[in-house]
Amino acid sequence: MPVLRQIAQLGHPVLRAPVDRVALPASESLLALVDDMLVTLRDANGVGIAAPQVYESLSLFIVASRPNPRYPSAPLMEPEAVFNAEILARSAELDKDWEGCLSIPGIRGNVPRHRSIRVRYQNAQGGEVEREFHAFVARIFQHEYDHLHGIVFLDRLEDSRDVMSEKEFQKQCIR
Ligand code: ZN
Repeated sequence: MPVLRQIAQLGHPVLRAPVDRVALPASESLLALVDDMLVTLRDANGVGIAAPQVYESLSLFIVASRPNPRYPSAPLMEPEAVFNAEILARSAELDKDWEGCLSIPGIRGNVPRHRSIRVRYQNAQGGEVEREFHAFVARIFQHEYDHLHGIVFLDRLEDSRDVMSEKEFQKQCIR
């Protein structure tokens, strides 16, 4: 049975630590970790979660965009477990949009991200996947990829005025 994991909060060194490449195909315990991350993500109304956020310094994250109270207009997709990701190309165009992080509750940031990215990663079986992501899903991918490099969205802000409390965000930006 999958279990809810504790989510590391900003300031914990695991969020700034380097990750290890994952050996694939995934072992039983690694598949159990993915299941735990999925239920933890769903419970917290997240759209992505990276292994360091559950205290595992591994090159693994989940992208699982779907509409929920924190992101009502998120597109619906099948959750994707992403192992050993690389970003191969980034569009010149940047978009700024509000994002949050399960490790930084109560705060939103208006973060610039590349509109489109071309990525390569492995699935749980060890197969290589190469694909492009756009818009909101590309944003999630870049956010989670940053977690593998010890970077949080606050590090990407252009100005401290690009921060808003979650409460104020809900009032102003979600209708
Ligand atoms: Zn995050």
